[in-house]
Amino acid sequence: MTARVLVVDDILANVRLLEAKLSAEYFEVVTAMNGLDALEAIHRTKPDIILLDVMMPGIDGIEVCRRIKANPLTQHIPVVMVTALDQPEDRVRGLEAGADDFLTKPVNDISLFCRIKSLVRLKMLTDELRIRADATDSIGLVSKTSNQTMERPGHVMLVDLRDTSADRIATALSEKHEVHHVNDPSKAAELAAAAAAPFELIIISLEPDRFDGLRLCSQLRSFEATRQTPILILVDPDSQQVLLRALDMGVNDYLMRPVDRQELLARVNTQVRRWRYTEQLRSSVKATIELAITDSLTGLYNRRYLESHLGNLIEHFSNRGKTLSVLAIDVDFFKAINDTHGHDAGDKVLQELAVRIKMHTRSIDLCCRTGGEEFVLVLPSTDLVAASIIAERLRKSIASKSFAVGKTHAVPVTVSIGLACLGDVTDSLDKILKRADEALYAAKREGRNRVARSAA
Ligand code: GH3
Ligand code: MG
Ligand code: MG
Repeated sequence: MTARVLVVDDILANVRLLEAKLSAEYFEVVTAMNGLDALEAIHRTKPDIILLDVMMPGIDGIEVCRRIKANPLTQHIPVVMVTALDQPEDRVRGLEAGADDFLTKPVNDISLFCRIKSLVRLKMLTDELRIRADATDSIGLVSKTSNQTMERPGHVMLVDLRDTSADRIATALSEKHEVHHVNDPSKAAELAAAAAAPFELIIISLEPDRFDGLRLCSQLRSFEATRQTPILILVDPDSQQVLLRALDMGVNDYLMRPVDRQELLARVNTQVRRWRYTEQLRSSVKATIELAITDSLTGLYNRRYLESHLGNLIEHFSNRGKTLSVLAIDVDFFKAINDTHGHDAGDKVLQELAVRIKMHTRSIDLCCRTGGEEFVLVLPSTDLVAASIIAERLRKSIASKSFAVGKTHAVPVTVSIGLACLGDVTDSLDKILKRADEALYAAKREGRNRVARSAA
């Protein structure tokens, strides 16, 4: 992995030392020697990560950090505060100013590279999501991604064998977070994966002599539901090896015992905030994808989705010797409904039609609006006989009860339906849709309000 690192320190020897270490690991290094230069360098060079000394003349590191995090253009860049060992309160001030992490001077190589790599990896993910979310924002499709706040308490799981230590931690976090204590580590991963509301952070109090905490971390990383959940571990200062393995496994952060309450709270806040930010981006990307594949009037899938998904289904089903059916549905004399009751009433009919279609299909069936008053349903594992029964039931449910289009108006609606079924292995998307369409036209020719099967 390579990344551009901005090193900020007012002492040249410190800058040179970090620069040498980072260059040796093939990071690209940019440097600045005071707060103002640092802010200028950020805008000029767009670093992937910033190592920021706390004590500097003029504006100090804390203030620089605050300004980076207050600016929407730079707030996503991870900031690591570099603090002096004898100034523990700087850590907390830094984290409160929005710093993502800190390192203590003299900087230990292992923690330097572990933390840089983990923050850069996270930034690459969020950059990707941010670009997509920005594109969505700029074309006004999805409501703007707002800056995440901490209005809701964080939903945190704490895995700790000792009730007394768990109580202490829960109390320290209680003003901002809801902590769920689990004292049996063998159950923790499954509990987390099955949680109705996903945990936003899992804290594991490691006790290498009493349970295998690394196994728990790897279980959490292997379950789909908890793969992305941040993990914070609590370790003893003499467990360096365990810590390294844990960071290697993708544990997001750690705290040394004895745990400092303020530092704990600040780190938990940071992890929860970061989790919410990525979740928000993820859901905005998901919303964009949904918009691209659904029809806005009815909420059914659109033709684009039908074509890609049905293509995959056909391949999957013909390879396994299974079948599927396709229904092409078209409203009878829909133009007349528009002409008589107005276009808005026509839209209401289409929406109500979508509701009735959904009511008569299973969740695995694919319901699409492919054009004005044309719909296509795909029924997996359904042969022509079963599909005929479903189509007939749907046709009746539409014809038997007129559609409300206003407070007083009710419009009788009928549909014609053409049916086709997956044939041999040479069958294709185009062929099966064409057969369903031909059957639909046959139904229209024979007088409408009926179901016709494809001859093939
Ligand atoms: P047939 O029984 O042969 O299918 O007759 P039809 O009138 O349903 O068919 P035709 O294809 O002639 O007319 C379809 C009409 O659907 C024409 C068009 O104005 C209308 N239409 C297309 N899209 C929409 C829509 O989104 N909303 C509304 N209200 N009408 C639409
Ligand atoms: Mg029609
Ligand atoms: Mg039509």
